[in-house]
Amino acid sequence: MTSSFETTAIHAGQEPDPSTGGITPPIHMTSTYAQPALGSNKGWVYSRAGNPTRANLEECLAALEGGVGCCAFGSGMAAITALLQTLRPGDGVVAGLDLYGGTHRILETLFRPWGVEIAYTRDATPEGYRDALSRVARPRLAWIESPTNPLLNVSDIAAISAVVRERDGCRSVVDNTFATPYLQRPLELGADYVVHSTSKYIAGHSDVIGGLVVARTAEALEPVKRMQKCAGAIPSPFDAWLTQRGVKTLAVRMQRHCDNALALAEALRAMTEFSRVVYPGLTDHPHHAIAKRQMRAFGGVVTVEMRDGFPAVERLLERLRIFALAEGLGGVESMVNFPPRMSHESLTAAELAERGITQGTVRFSVGIENADDLLEDIRQAVR
Ligand SMILES: *Cc1c(COP(=O)(O)O)cnc(C)c1O
Repeated sequence: MTSSFETTAIHAGQEPDPSTGGITPPIHMTSTYAQPALGSNKGWVYSRAGNPTRANLEECLAALEGGVGCCAFGSGMAAITALLQTLRPGDGVVAGLDLYGGTHRILETLFRPWGVEIAYTRDATPEGYRDALSRVARPRLAWIESPTNPLLNVSDIAAISAVVRERDGCRSVVDNTFATPYLQRPLELGADYVVHSTSKYIAGHSDVIGGLVVARTAEALEPVKRMQKCAGAIPSPFDAWLTQRGVKTLAVRMQRHCDNALALAEALRAMTEFSRVVYPGLTDHPHHAIAKRQMRAFGGVVTVEMRDGFPAVERLLERLRIFALAEGLGGVESMVNFPPRMSHESLTAAELAERGITQGTVRFSVGIENADDLLEDIRQAVR
């Protein structure tokens, strides 16, 4: 990145429209392009393969993540699926057990039946990944999530990427949805790919679904680009534009999300209704030291354990006024989620227990409203 994050977020891929001077590039709502003569074109031929509005977003995110290129998709899951579809039967994927539910589901229901070997590690440590890599015949992708959902476990991306690099032909992937490039830049830490659900913080306003893959090298980008063009799970030009609009304020939003989340985590820890408050920014978080080393700040999600279990959760969810009960996270507005019945409902009771999610676990996506208002909302709800 030649200029700072904040400046890149606003200017990369955002040259004023050359034909009118419009400060905001137009939305190229077109499926195809008139060709001046047979065999000649202006660089655009068909919008599945390429569209100027999508290309602007891809250029901006590649710059923000420090990669050579980026492919945008119609959802986070479409991006993840496209990357996994670059594998062949017999190839292996290793992943932490504490994985986004949708990623776990697609690995188990689509890619395992398709012949991809999958091994998980409960310990998302370099040793855990080394062990998982030894359990598949032909490891090709090592999937890392940090911080994880909803328990906010943090992995040492540099150390795990180094272990992955020891294996010929194996690349590391970091799902950077929870951190965003403002807080953490996995490619600089040695990862080969970053994936995002841009539906969360990147777009940031709970108004568009999208995803993307950023690659560190041209060799890593090529198969994803080919999959994007061939399989075509692309975002519309309007969705790409809307996402780009969100990216311009990513730095200021993330700063406020982090400030509010830290203030809330500290205040909730002092309340007797919560037996546990999980936030990587708290010094008693088990991975606080790693988080401090590889992240600029600690994110906008706070997870708590209600001391009185499910009855207390039900009361809380019913009485909250500002926090909306909703799937998803990362919007400017605060949201609350009960993982066992919402984001993680596809997991069995045993799988939930294995991950440390209980009937008292509640996840807050802390928005950018006034921090005192948010704390007061939780206080009045548990009182
Ligand atoms: C939401 C999410 C996804 C899936 O993205 P969609 O845009 O909902 O398809 C993947 N990974 C993480 C960490 C997420 O939070």
